[in-house]
Amino acid sequence: MEVVRITPRGYCHGVVEAIRMAKQVGRERHGRPVTMLGYLVHNEHVTRELEESGVRLVPTADRLVGLEQVDAGTVIFTAHGVSPQVVDEARRRGLDVVDATCSDVTRTHDLVRRLIDDGYEVVYIGKRGHPEPAGVLGVAPGHVRLIETIDEVDELDYPQGTKLAVTCQTTLSMWDTAAIIERLIQRFPAIEAHNEICRATQERQEAAVLAAKDVDCVVVVGSQRSSNSQRLVQVVEQLGGKPGFLVDNPGELNPNWFVGMRRVGVTAGASTPTQITRAVIAAIEAIPAEATAATG
Ligand code: SF4
Repeated sequence: MEVVRITPRGYCHGVVEAIRMAKQVGRERHGRPVTMLGYLVHNEHVTRELEESGVRLVPTADRLVGLEQVDAGTVIFTAHGVSPQVVDEARRRGLDVVDATCSDVTRTHDLVRRLIDDGYEVVYIGKRGHPEPAGVLGVAPGHVRLIETIDEVDELDYPQGTKLAVTCQTTLSMWDTAAIIERLIQRFPAIEAHNEICRATQERQEAAVLAAKDVDCVVVVGSQRSSNSQRLVQVVEQLGGKPGFLVDNPGELNPNWFVGMRRVGVTAGASTPTQITRAVIAAIEAIPAEATAATG
């Protein structure tokens, strides 16, 4: 099979910077405890490498609950950002803080803060249980409403005259988010719309959809936990019209997926290390022709 390498793919600037910061603090810990509060980035390989270098993981999405397990040393806030309450609590506990929040997530926090200061209520499109929305909701408790689906737009019940704005998680599907924003504008024509999907997510989704038209399927290299990797599979299937498969490593490839196929696109989520993507590509190229030959 021919493998089409979809570009851009893999690490974004926020992930590169977060890993750089975490590795540096790990190197300089001199025996003091270093804890990442949640997964630094949503990739199993990156997590394992950091743990092997002595950085402890507290794997809870609820950062305040996670902080209860950190008594001393340095705490690392992940690329997804944390609420101001978490920052305050870390200080109250006397911890050293390394904040690896991506600058694109910080921009969303700043936007929400400015909107609330200007008297808006904010509708935030995001995934429940993901740490990024938890951080954003904490910027203005009680003033930011999280919705996930288009149907939830109809459940919103703001009093007449409420100044409304909408924004979103950085790693969602561009197309899903646009549809939800469109529905919001139908219901609340004066709503102020801010699309905060980051450039890295947008570029990877656009490239994957475009490439999907010329291949038989697309393999997305990324971990199940990774929102942007899951969205890549989704856009390949919904907009590219081709099957998409998410694999964390070469061992998860199933030759049966490729029966009758000749061209396979490969992309990778924004938190996937390049060497893992290379290994997956090599494994696909090594699948023998007879394993994927169509029968009948
Ligand atoms: S996917 Fe976007 S928001 Fe997330 S770390 Fe990368 S650049 Fe930042």
